[in-house]
Amino acid sequence: MNNMRTDVLIVGQGICGTFLSWWLEQAGVSFIVIDEPRPFTASKAAAGLINPVTGRRIVTTWMIDELLPFAGEAYRQMGETLGMSCMTPTSLVDFFPTAQMRLAFLKRYEEDPSYLQLPADEHAWDDVFRYELGYGVISPCYLVNLPALLSVSRKRMLERGVLLEERFDREDLIVEGGLQLDGQGKRSTVGTSGMKEGRVRYRDISAGQVVFCDGIESFTNPYFSRLPFAPNKGEALVVEIPELSQAGKEDTGNGDARGRAGAVFKKGISLAPWKEGLYWVGASYEWAFDHGEPTEAFRKRTEALLQEWLKVPVRTVEHIASVRPATLERRPFVGFHPLHPAVGILNGMGTKGCSLAPYFAHQLVQSITKGIPIRPDADVRRFSGILSRN
Ligand SMILES: Cc1cc2nc3c(=O)[nH]c(=O)nc-3n(C[C@H](O)[C@H](O)[C@H](O)COP(=O)(O)OP(=O)(O)OC[C@H]3O[C@@H](n4cnc5c(N)ncnc54)[C@H](O)[C@@H]3O)c2cc1C
Repeated sequence: MNNMRTDVLIVGQGICGTFLSWWLEQAGVSFIVIDEPRPFTASKAAAGLINPVTGRRIVTTWMIDELLPFAGEAYRQMGETLGMSCMTPTSLVDFFPTAQMRLAFLKRYEEDPSYLQLPADEHAWDDVFRYELGYGVISPCYLVNLPALLSVSRKRMLERGVLLEERFDREDLIVEGGLQLDGQGKRSTVGTSGMKEGRVRYRDISAGQVVFCDGIESFTNPYFSRLPFAPNKGEALVVEIPELSQAGKEDTGNGDARGRAGAVFKKGISLAPWKEGLYWVGASYEWAFDHGEPTEAFRKRTEALLQEWLKVPVRTVEHIASVRPATLERRPFVGFHPLHPAVGILNGMGTKGCSLAPYFAHQLVQSITKGIPIRPDADVRRFSGILSRN
């Protein structure tokens, strides 16, 4: 590409960059995405589950009543364009790991049954799983087909000539009045000659704005490194369970005929349908780690758990790991830098990229095209103080 002009330059094509480019396209705004192909990123390692309730007290997750219908419609529309099903409804069969968890589920069900069901037949899964304390059902949940969504979107971007498959090198980014790093990583402000105010230049590309959707790489971005990120490592196994994947479309015993093969299961760890008839098992949730690679310890621990839990044969096919771009206050980082309005971010989705990315990418596009404010608890300008310090 030589001397290209575009409205928005997007760094990263995980779930955030994919949705940002999608909403920009819908709004008729031009963009170029730069994404370096990597075997495992957070979006490539994720199960793709949207679970409306979480935690020991089975609380409804933040904004879920607004996020779920929005995500449903966004994935439906995207699926129509990509010619695939991006998101499917499912049920999560929640085997109680302890008596306390069983009590917590029943208590929550009595107080507020939304998203919860009790099974009609407690023995419905006896042939496949060992469980002594029964189970509850969380429904509806959703499974986003991330592997296909990311690769089909990528192919479409390549065909339309809007994706560069290469590493984005921050040192080649020039922003009017923006920051630059010297050799020691010190920040300084640069002036720019002949650039229109608020414009951005990256090698041969000139853009109105740049938006970083680069996951954990934003932690070291001089514009945004002061944000309270909290990297969290997750590992998962991809396994083959022929007797479960061939279980067919029988009733699960809950009046829910979505099919045994399509359900998600949980007993401490989660077991979710993955691509090509395989299952995804995970994940770890680690605040302290030396590297983002798969570890022997996780594989052994998880294989032992599976042997205890499953009555049918299971075989590990792949072991994956990545780092979640999580944040200390568990809220995303969305919007433009208070001092550098041409530099934006869409990040910090933590454990919930599948439900948060469609909604907050849309908010960012509404703010770019119509000046509509981003929700204050997600807008990165809530950190104006620390972002504006020298
Ligand atoms: C094991 C695991 C399980 C998970 N399960 C779920 C789940 O079931 N449901 C859910 O909602 N969420 C889940 N998550 C969280 C979810 O994966 C994240 O919230 C989400 O993927 C973050 O997406 P992102 O686009 O911000 O970042 P990423 O997916 O990391 O995307 C960043 C992209 O930027 C590119 N990039 C970075 N730097 C550069 C550069 N310098 N040049 C070029 N390209 C660059 C990378 O190659 C990558 O493609 C899970 C995460 C993990 C690790």
